[in-house]
Amino acid sequence: MCILCDSPVSPSSSRFSCTASEANNNVGINRRRLLIALGASVAAIPALSFPTGLIAQAPDSKAELSRLQRGGRVLIRNATILSMDAKVGDFAAADVLIDGGKIREVRPGIEVDASVAVVDARDKLLLPGFVDTHHHFYQGLLRNILPNGLLQPDYSRDISDRLTAVYTADDVHIGTLISALGMIDMGTTCAVDTSQVNHTPEHSEAGIKALQDSGIRGVYAYSRGAGDKHKYPQDVARLHKAYFNSQDQLLAIGLAGTLVKAQFEAARAADVRFYSHGVNHRTEKALIELSQAGLLRAGDEYIHCTQLSAESWKIIKDSGGVVSLSPPIEMMMGHGMPGIQEALDNGFRPSLSSDVGVTFAQDPFTVMRSTLSLQRLIALQRGQKDPDNQPKLLTVRDVLEFATIAGANALGLGSRTGSITPGKDADLVILDASRLNVWPLNNAAGSVVNLMNPMNVETVFIAGKVMKWRGALVGVDEQKIKTMAATARDGVVKRAGFQSSLL
Ligand SMILES: [Zn+2]
Repeated sequence: MCILCDSPVSPSSSRFSCTASEANNNVGINRRRLLIALGASVAAIPALSFPTGLIAQAPDSKAELSRLQRGGRVLIRNATILSMDAKVGDFAAADVLIDGGKIREVRPGIEVDASVAVVDARDKLLLPGFVDTHHHFYQGLLRNILPNGLLQPDYSRDISDRLTAVYTADDVHIGTLISALGMIDMGTTCAVDTSQVNHTPEHSEAGIKALQDSGIRGVYAYSRGAGDKHKYPQDVARLHKAYFNSQDQLLAIGLAGTLVKAQFEAARAADVRFYSHGVNHRTEKALIELSQAGLLRAGDEYIHCTQLSAESWKIIKDSGGVVSLSPPIEMMMGHGMPGIQEALDNGFRPSLSSDVGVTFAQDPFTVMRSTLSLQRLIALQRGQKDPDNQPKLLTVRDVLEFATIAGANALGLGSRTGSITPGKDADLVILDASRLNVWPLNNAAGSVVNLMNPMNVETVFIAGKVMKWRGALVGVDEQKIKTMAATARDGVVKRAGFQSSLL
């Protein structure tokens, strides 16, 4: 059989293709016969002469990792760097020196001696880790259990009232842990856990322990719980003292809730930031009252901000508040039109958040891409109606800023994380731009926002500690954690009498 023209070759021939004159004389045969013929003779076909060396040998990844884990200094070499710090700038190819968990130097051609562990980052992008300013971590057990659900009535009925209510402290621990590890795996190095499962003080402690165990940076935003054994909101003061009394740790505490005076008073008494959930077009009156009572403080976070009045935006702005937008979830679950354009119109550089895993993915790429495409839709539609007043279109660089340094600033952590700046903690992600889904690399920020997904997250550092290395989490017994999570999920679903549907 001729492998070029589907024609029979003389049985006595050792050739695999016919000559031009044979081809002219041969009658065509159908595709099926060709496949059968090739399959039947596959063992006899010698290797075809494709270029060699297409499959590279991986470097000794384990040896590199153990050098990194020994501590000391690490040099990330030859990365394409998006520092997200205008003073540092960006580099097509440069090096970052990490020493004692902190970024020490960012420039091309850093010379080091043999004691420094070197990470070759050619064809890789180096960015600050992503910052997610609002996620309900305990729901890691319930991922996508509500694939088509709306906030009302589905989420309130099934998640808030039914499934959450039966969580034990152990469920909180494993649910929170698997969410945090999933986030690190996807490049998020800092996040707010708006917990909402604090049925007892033990539930709160389980959530805090899980965040500590995971090694993620962030804020434990102590929230309400179900039943009559919760100690919300006053327990925030005890937790603050017991677990968050030092500045030299990765975690801080805040108080989360709604725009209710007693909750804000508890936050002010405990001297923590407040994370207001469900801020929307119905909450103007509550905002005005809190403002008049002098209970709003700079750094308080306002989540969702869907269809806010001009007065509400002004109160948040004047008080020094920050906003956390979750456009994918807000669009999917009926929270109302996401406030991205209104936030921009009112002078905010918003932070971004993934909110719940019960419906949508936690990954920062989904959140960035949704935010970008939605804002451009809104702005272009406004422009169609009123060409002289079309808002400025967001760029890929803008949403990268929202997902990194703007998130860090929102949490009051901008001096420690959110950009690749000497002196800051080394919270870094190496994104693989050599993978087939993004190569060839033509625009670094565009590749991250428009093309990448979690499979491009190759390596993750938090405060200089390697958390993910060459595609796998470090020091995590994934199988054990997955088994524990599935068992806990089974228990929660059963105790709640919830009918989940795999198919
Ligand atoms: Zn939420």
